[in-house]
Amino acid sequence: MTSYTGAIGLRKSGQSPIDIIDKIVRPKRFPPLILNGHWLKDGNATLFNDGETANIFLNGDRIPSTVFGGPLVNDDKYEFHNAHFHWGENDCRGSEHTINGTWFSMECHVMHWNRKYLTFEECLRHRDGLCALAYLFLVQSRSCQYNHIKFDRISENLQYIQNVGSEINISPNSLCWMREATDCSSYYTYQGSITVEPYWECVTWIIFPVIIPVQSCQLNEFRKLKNKNGEFIKSNWRDVQLLRGQRIFLAIS
Ligand SMILES: [Zn+2]
Repeated sequence: MTSYTGAIGLRKSGQSPIDIIDKIVRPKRFPPLILNGHWLKDGNATLFNDGETANIFLNGDRIPSTVFGGPLVNDDKYEFHNAHFHWGENDCRGSEHTINGTWFSMECHVMHWNRKYLTFEECLRHRDGLCALAYLFLVQSRSCQYNHIKFDRISENLQYIQNVGSEINISPNSLCWMREATDCSSYYTYQGSITVEPYWECVTWIIFPVIIPVQSCQLNEFRKLKNKNGEFIKSNWRDVQLLRGQRIFLAIS
């Protein structure tokens, strides 16, 4: 993920990821959560290996993809920054968030920054600086016969970015798999941190519990990516953190 060196961060109220346990989750009604522009066919998208994960950037001639509403207060609009992935050495564990102690095979974080702070770096200094949408993937079958077709737009291109620093243009709507998993009427949300150093607590997390099926061979392509030492990135998830008084909500419609 992007380096955050240089900004002053927050570390006092609560870290991520966490285990989302039903018995401590509180149902809550929020204003409508609105996502805009993530799966448009306009413009360009780039897949990039930064040595820690595979990143997707949206660019070119397209309207900015945004998220607002829901638990995001003050009518603040958050603009897409990148989407990136967390995976593990095998298909049993790779997600960062867990639900009732259950692990998933992979997790995608779709990161957004609060436009009122003008720059991404400034957002790191504020509790309401970033909004992360989290998607959970589970390997459904060892067979590769029924690949997740929409996800192929990403997984089939990973072979071209195995070396750190490499990138390739991919389909502008390579995030269209988000659509089927984005249930804006039911999601978990809490206040936490980024999950890479220096773990600043500037993130409103929105976690969609709609499990996205992927195939083992699609996930394997992520494990072939290399870090800056030329070694395979076998695993890049952070362990769940203890709650420090954070409240976890389940949005209900
Ligand atoms: Zn992440």
